[in-house]
Amino acid sequence: MSGDKALQNALNQFEHVTQLVDIDENIIERLRYHDTVYEFTIPVEMDDGSIEVFTGYRAQHEGILGPYKGGLRYHPSVNREECIALSMWMTWKCAVMNLPYGGAKGGVDVNVKELSSEENERLTRRMTHEMREVIGPKKDVPAPDMGTNSRTMSWIMDAYSMGEKEMTPGIVTGKPPVVSGSLGREEAPGRSVALITKAACEFYKKDLEDVTVAIQGYGSVGGNAARLLEDWGATVVAVSDEKAMAYDEDGLDTHDIPTHTEEPEGILNYDNAEINTDGDILTQDVDVLIPAAIGNVITKDNAEDIQADLVIEGANGPTTFDGADILEENDVPVIPDILANAGGVTVSYYEWVQGIGRRNWTLEEVQSELDKDMRAAWDNVRNVYEDRDEVTWRDAAYIVALERLSAAYEERGHWP
Ligand code: NAD
Repeated sequence: MSGDKALQNALNQFEHVTQLVDIDENIIERLRYHDTVYEFTIPVEMDDGSIEVFTGYRAQHEGILGPYKGGLRYHPSVNREECIALSMWMTWKCAVMNLPYGGAKGGVDVNVKELSSEENERLTRRMTHEMREVIGPKKDVPAPDMGTNSRTMSWIMDAYSMGEKEMTPGIVTGKPPVVSGSLGREEAPGRSVALITKAACEFYKKDLEDVTVAIQGYGSVGGNAARLLEDWGATVVAVSDEKAMAYDEDGLDTHDIPTHTEEPEGILNYDNAEINTDGDILTQDVDVLIPAAIGNVITKDNAEDIQADLVIEGANGPTTFDGADILEENDVPVIPDILANAGGVTVSYYEWVQGIGRRNWTLEEVQSELDKDMRAAWDNVRNVYEDRDEVTWRDAAYIVALERLSAAYEERGHWP
């Protein structure tokens, strides 16, 4: 999807919910616009001695609740409009989780697979230098996203800390635990998807022991969600990656199947299940479908074929606006990404708190805080869903987020 379409999708979702909330039109008008987009170039010396210049962006949508927060992507599809759209979604996600953050997103238009590790490091350090004025532990805190990882975050922290002449762990989250990262950060989005799936099954009176699940995308989010759901009693019958789908109607041993992170073609090479290279995981006849790979996979062209009773969005933006309408007409509830995968930004927040406070939490502390915060967010969204007739789960999550932002604007006011 082009950046324009992503932005249109984000604005469509926003405009739709503005019809459902009783919020001052002036505040709504403010939220339609992003605060800033920084665009910069990054000259990088390649291994052969030539210089290549890459373009980077950092979009900051809204900062009334706290510093901007959001991922940094390295991908050839990165563009200005898409960064704005993704930064808007981060605003709603942080607000629905009641985190003291605003929304941001950024990235560099680069095919990271074509870079050597040394080129990647030079790109990252120079990018950090170019962004120095706009990021900061109290201003804007990046995190990993497509094409970036904990190593990238270590380089950013190191480059930023050198400029500050002091170790500054609060500048990024998603770092390795040995350099002020948080235990449990990597598993957090998958854990929150599993927690929200469990809560949604309880709501729809489905016993997890009787529930079948299909998960598109077997990376960090999909893999961690699959394993936890299996541990909690669900029958995960199908998981897939870009190349293949593993299927077993009696339930897969998800701990035995390597995730994308553990082995990129793990599903294709897996021996202990039926492996299908042209099956469509999205249309499997299961109780719960979890799209956890990429955006815009459930569209007006295939939504009619979805057989699951419940969709939990593990990926960011897997359902288009039109696709969501069809699922709604067919009474298939969709629990939105801004709630379901928000464990990632929530544990990022814990990491930031640990970094600033210079105190490391145990894994048990991280998991128990996350379980509590996800349950609180679920309860808030569920209350709106139950109290308001005819709203979808996405509407309910947006209403929670917009009401929080509006309350903050009511108190702080617009200036001048
Ligand atoms: P990942 O790279 O670890 O895994 C992605 C998986 O999706 C891989 O198995 C890959 O093979 C598969 N995939 C890619 N294209 C596919 C396609 N066309 N069809 C089927 N499978 C495909 O990524 P991840 O970190 O698990 O992220 C997955 C999604 O979750 C993304 O939308 C991401 O933005 C979102 N998300 C990630 C985090 C996080 O912190 N990791 C947090 C919140 C949301």
